[in-house]
Amino acid sequence: MKGSVSLRDRLNATVRDIQRSGIRDFFDIVSTMKDVISLGIGEPDFNTPWHVRESTVFALERGATHYTSNYGYIELRRALSKYVLKIFGTEYNPEDEVLITVGVSEALDLALRAIINPGDEVLYHEPCYVSYRATILFAHGVPVEVPTRADNGFRLTRAMLEARVTPRTKILMLNFPNNPTGAVMSRADLEDIAAFARERDLLVITDEIYGELTYDAAHTSIASLPGLRERTIFLHGFSKAWAMTGFRLGYACGPAELIEAMMKIHQYTMLCASSLSQKAALEALARPESDVAEMLAEYRRRRNYIAAAFNDMGLACHRPLGAFYAFPSVAKFGVSSRDFALNLLREEKVAVVPGTAFGECGEGFVRCAYATSLENIKEAMVRIRRFLAGAGRP
Ligand code: PLP
Repeated sequence: MKGSVSLRDRLNATVRDIQRSGIRDFFDIVSTMKDVISLGIGEPDFNTPWHVRESTVFALERGATHYTSNYGYIELRRALSKYVLKIFGTEYNPEDEVLITVGVSEALDLALRAIINPGDEVLYHEPCYVSYRATILFAHGVPVEVPTRADNGFRLTRAMLEARVTPRTKILMLNFPNNPTGAVMSRADLEDIAAFARERDLLVITDEIYGELTYDAAHTSIASLPGLRERTIFLHGFSKAWAMTGFRLGYACGPAELIEAMMKIHQYTMLCASSLSQKAALEALARPESDVAEMLAEYRRRRNYIAAAFNDMGLACHRPLGAFYAFPSVAKFGVSSRDFALNLLREEKVAVVPGTAFGECGEGFVRCAYATSLENIKEAMVRIRRFLAGAGRP
C-alpha cells in the first residue's frame, strides 16, 4: 500500500543520498551563538557600490519589472562581451554566445546538464567549491575528483589529471582562483592543462568568479589559450568582485551551440534572470576599475596579515594568491578538522570551516575567509593564538 512507503523512500535516490552542504550545517550551529567572529562565509563584507544600488532603484521606478529575453538584456550581453574581452582576453558574440543566469550557480548547473549523458565522467579538482560534486551528480554525471596538495600551492598539474582520466571522461571543470584554497594557476600551468584538454578532446567548464581578485600576478583565463575557446564554457558573475551576492547574477560565455543548449534548459526552468539584477549589472560594468580596485586593495591588506599571522602561530599556511580565503593546516593537532573547528567555536567563538566541507583531501585544513574587517581578523587571530596555547588546545 502506498501509505506504507515513507516519503524519504519516494525521493529521487540521488537527491536522497546526497549530503547537505557542510558549510550550511556548520553555520546552523554558529547562528545559535552570540559574539562569534566569523571567518566562515564566502561572502564579501563590502556593500554593493552605491551607484549600482541607486541605479537599481531607478530601474524599478522606471518599470524594469518584466521578463527579459531568455538570453538576458542585449545591452547587458554587449557590455559583458566587451568586459570579458578586456579582462579575460576572449571575444564572444553577444547575440548568441553569452547567456545571463541566476548566479554562477545556475550557469554551472546548466553547463553540466547541457553536456552530460548519464555515466559521463567529469574531472574536477579538490578541495573545491561545495556545489561541484552535487551538481555533477544531479546532472547524472560521474564525479572524478583530482586531489591537489598544499606542497605545490594547491595547483593542478597535467600528471594529476593523467592519473584520473578515462575513455569516459567528457568534461574538465576548473576553478582558479580557487575557493577554498586561494590557489591560482599561472599561464604556464594552464598551458599544460590546455594541452591535456585538447589532446584528450575534453570540454572545459571554467569557473572564474574570482578572476578579478588576484594579488600578486594578473589572472589568465584558460579560455583565452590557443584551441580552448571552441571547447570551453567560461563562467563568471557579479557576486564576488562587486559584492552583489543577493542580486544572484552570473553569466556563461561559449560557442553558440553550447550556449544555446544551456539556454534551452534556462528557458524552461528559469525563463530569465531578474530584470532588476540585470539592470544593476549593467551599471556595475560602467566603472568596474574603481569599484573592484578599492575592494581588491583591502583584500590584499587582509591577505598579507592573515597568512603571516597563521604561519607565525605555527599553522602552516601557503600564501593565498587569489580569492579571499586562507587555508591553513591544523593537521599537527591530531584531531579532525571538524573537531578542530568545533572546539575553536566552543572555546573562543571563532568560526572557520572544516576543510572536509570541500572534499576529503581537505582533511587537516580549515578555510578562513578574509571577507571580514581587518579589525575582526585581528581579534580572531588573538583568539586562535589563545586557543592554541591554552586549555582549549585540542
Ligand atoms: N563558484 C565558486 C567557486 C564560488 O566560490 C561561489 C560562491 O561562493 C559560486 C560559484 C557561486 O556564485 P554565485 O553567487 O554567482 O552563484
